[in-house]
Amino acid sequence: MTVLAISPHPDDVEIGCFGTLARLAAREPVVIVVMTSGSVRGSPEERERETLECAHLIGAAVEFLRYPDGSLLQDPETVARVRALMKRHSATTVFAPYFQDTHQDHAATFGIVAASAAHTREILLYETPSTFDFRPQVFYDVTSTLSVKQQALALFHTQADRPYLDPGLVDGQARYFALRLHEKGKAYEAFALFRSVR
Ligand SMILES: [Zn+2]
Repeated sequence: MTVLAISPHPDDVEIGCFGTLARLAAREPVVIVVMTSGSVRGSPEERERETLECAHLIGAAVEFLRYPDGSLLQDPETVARVRALMKRHSATTVFAPYFQDTHQDHAATFGIVAASAAHTREILLYETPSTFDFRPQVFYDVTSTLSVKQQALALFHTQADRPYLDPGLVDGQARYFALRLHEKGKAYEAFALFRSVR
């Protein structure tokens, strides 16, 4: 029973699903897999360190695959590597970016995961700042872990100028999903279901 959270760059899973990962990490192992180390927007070493600090907050492990930032490809070698990684961890739940995403590394990550996860029982797709036409069906209550998510996002010092890391925006989005569920005052993260085998 392992949760794998696949991140195209350092910061994507923290934006898309860190409140949920914080909840899940309390009862099962969570591994964050980072496809590229984000050299387009900072030093890869610093960005990896920021990811490790975030993971430390919830006791998650991290694996860096170090593919080139900006030109990640869904090729047979990458699919085989990610498939082997899922098998090695006996991944039961995988989080990946939603398929409609204008960032090519995000779209490629979805393709790689979809092609690698033949034996994964549950695949949930999270939203990134470049997702469009997002249609969520699965909602996790992150009322108790939203503060951990905010702590994590504040650790991305190299990305501090990115508007989507604004705490007010993150809070508003989580509360907006709660409102849609008639759960005023709570906070939710939303996912699109790619597969669920029960
Ligand atoms: Zn990204």
